[in-house]
Amino acid sequence: MEFAVVTLLPEMFTALTDFGITGRAFKEGIATLNLVNPRDFSVDRHGTVDDKPYGGGPGMLLKVEPVLKAVDVAKQQCQSPAKVIYFSAQGRRLVQTDVNSLAAEPAVIFIAGRYEGLDQRLIDLVVDEEYSIGDYVLSGGEIPAMAAMDAIVRLLPGVLGDAESAEEESFTDGLLEYPQYTRPESVSGRRVPEVLLSGDHAKIKNWRRQQSLGRTFLRRPDLLDKRGLSTDEKKLLEEFLQDLSLD
Ligand code: SAM
Repeated sequence: MEFAVVTLLPEMFTALTDFGITGRAFKEGIATLNLVNPRDFSVDRHGTVDDKPYGGGPGMLLKVEPVLKAVDVAKQQCQSPAKVIYFSAQGRRLVQTDVNSLAAEPAVIFIAGRYEGLDQRLIDLVVDEEYSIGDYVLSGGEIPAMAAMDAIVRLLPGVLGDAESAEEESFTDGLLEYPQYTRPESVSGRRVPEVLLSGDHAKIKNWRRQQSLGRTFLRRPDLLDKRGLSTDEKKLLEEFLQDLSLD
């Protein structure tokens, strides 16, 4: 999959390209990344890329021309038609289903805002989707772009081995993941749930499903409202809540 990012701070992206699972994917060519800096398209010798907002007010905006040119160059560098995404605090919250759809695209261009963001006409002209990563304000769109690319890259075929499979992770089935444990069996008097030591795979699967449902009900009831529950799942959740009240 091809990625391009329009950014004033291309150096930040080594965090993604040089480390861990994403680093491996970029090294193996499963994903490619082009970084295009609007400063390279500034028309004055100072490399100016920002200007005052019309109507006054605090801060500066990214100038239209250098960003527009950078997006054009990013599009030309992609082999396939690319979707253009702008990360902004005002966008729709990015969720796993959006990540799944983006992972099915052949090419995606992210625009990372800086200063007070982009001129609205630029957004209207070139942006296909505007996403936020949460209800808080960051100083730039680079970290949101990296967060999205990380989430996308791990879904690409060949990136995660069987041992790291994304299939049972949180949000895959509209639920949070069940609690996990590793050795030793006892930590400060707290033991691993007996069922996980039983070797009974059907029981373990059932317990995990129940924990997933219970955890989602307690922590993110909004996810269950959206998803709904089958009759079996309702029963598992009722049992989970009964056990909880007995505890
Ligand atoms: N003036 C903007 C506002 O009030 O919505 C905030 C601009 S912010 C300081 C600079 C850039 O950071 C934005 O253009 C955007 O690209 C990025 N950014 C900030 N918060 C974000 C968030 N929650 N999600 C995605 N991008 C964000």
